[in-house]
Amino acid sequence: MKSKLIVGNWKMNGGLRTNSALLEAIQSGLSGVTCRAAVCVPAPYLAQMQTLLADSPVAWGAQDVSAHEAGAYTGEVSATMLQDFGVRYCIVGHSERRQYHSETDALVAVKAQRALSAGITPIVCVGETQAEREAGQTEAVVKRQLAAVIHANGHCISEIVVAYEPVWAIGTGLTAAPEQAQAVHALLRKQLQAASSQADRIAILYGGSMNAVNAATLLAQPDIDGGLVGGAALQADDFLTILNSASR
Ligand code: PEP
Repeated sequence: MKSKLIVGNWKMNGGLRTNSALLEAIQSGLSGVTCRAAVCVPAPYLAQMQTLLADSPVAWGAQDVSAHEAGAYTGEVSATMLQDFGVRYCIVGHSERRQYHSETDALVAVKAQRALSAGITPIVCVGETQAEREAGQTEAVVKRQLAAVIHANGHCISEIVVAYEPVWAIGTGLTAAPEQAQAVHALLRKQLQAASSQADRIAILYGGSMNAVNAATLLAQPDIDGGLVGGAALQADDFLTILNSASR
């Protein structure tokens, strides 16, 4: 059985001092944690992660990457720049970027491609809105989002991580019921298996108000290979409880 993967998404939170305190608290509680762990931080703090996590089992990642290689793209950060800072993971297609920055499926697919070509594992987020779920479109939406990434990345697809994040569950305190999440994970798994003979290597994470209380039940589902955790990743105790739940 592959070890579970828990990734903290700090979003636009943090500061040099608070990051340091949070990581110290997390690292001091890692005995007994056997799952894989990472934190995806705002780009300005990647250098700090490179220093503070150099000898740690906790990996670090970014929250976005440019679809361009280099050039006149003010404000953007390229995959090779992330590579300079030892980044292992990069979230792409988070619903907040799809929603506030109008990121399309095609753009997300190119971002995943850029990350892969720099040796960075893209964490590809897919998920339906409340309205889409109510309209019975969950399956069609997540399949369409993932298909774009599969189509653009061919045989490299086994190198990605997928995160199923129902948009209505992100930052709302509403969590998908474990069976609801499992059903979507199972269909994403099938889609990946149809695309690659190596698909069983791909971790499919659940994200959306995962916390210290609900993590164990979600992580017990057969196709939930880990979690992408927002709010609860900012509290060392909560994050450690989730890491421990993923280590059973
Ligand atoms: C996220 O931002 O990816 C996320 C899942 O957030 P939260 O855990 O706060 O819902």
